Amino acid sequence: MKVGDSVVVEAEIACGECPACKAGNYNDCDKLAGIGINGGGGLSEHKEKALQSHSADIVVDPSKEDLAERVRHETDEAGADLVFDAAGAEPVDHQLLEALKATGGLMVVALHGKPITLNLTKELGFGEKFIRCTMGYANDHADAIKLIHDRNIDLSTFITDRIKVEDIVDKGFRQLRQDAENHVKIIVSM
Ligand SMILES: [Zn+2]
Repeated sequence: MKVGDSVVVEAEIACGECPACKAGNYNDCDKLAGIGINGGGGLSEHKEKALQSHSADIVVDPSKEDLAERVRHETDEAGADLVFDAAGAEPVDHQLLEALKATGGLMVVALHGKPITLNLTKELGFGEKFIRCTMGYANDHADAIKLIHDRNIDLSTFITDRIKVEDIVDKGFRQLRQDAENHVKIIVSM
């Protein structure tokens, strides 16, 4: 590594000694701590713009349209095999479960700040659907960087500001706390 090289910082801090760490799943560490990990919300508008710009065939705003109905329509009434909750908001989980086909699964990749209430029999039992959660990442950076590079994926819509390291308090941390609605990633140059 030399001066000027781009680097990625692993934001997870794991103990390296607990059973999860020893199994290689350091993202599930008993003592996991994170740098810059925060809750959902606030990102939906940016995510929608980002999706529209390069990766989704269809973008649905569930606040304006019935998501489950639209998914059924787009899948010839079959429903979705797999859905992802990246929002961390309870109403989204209910809609996603409803959009699933029988035996389909909900992957929760968002952080939920509050407990949610599910009717297990009605929402999961009928249709034998399942929920699985994920936390952080483990040894995924290299694959993620390669995918972005190989597929020429433009992630610039996620970058909401670029600042110098000397401005990190006022234009970085303070902005993220006070104006979270309008920020996703702030790039800091050193
Ligand atoms: Zn550990």
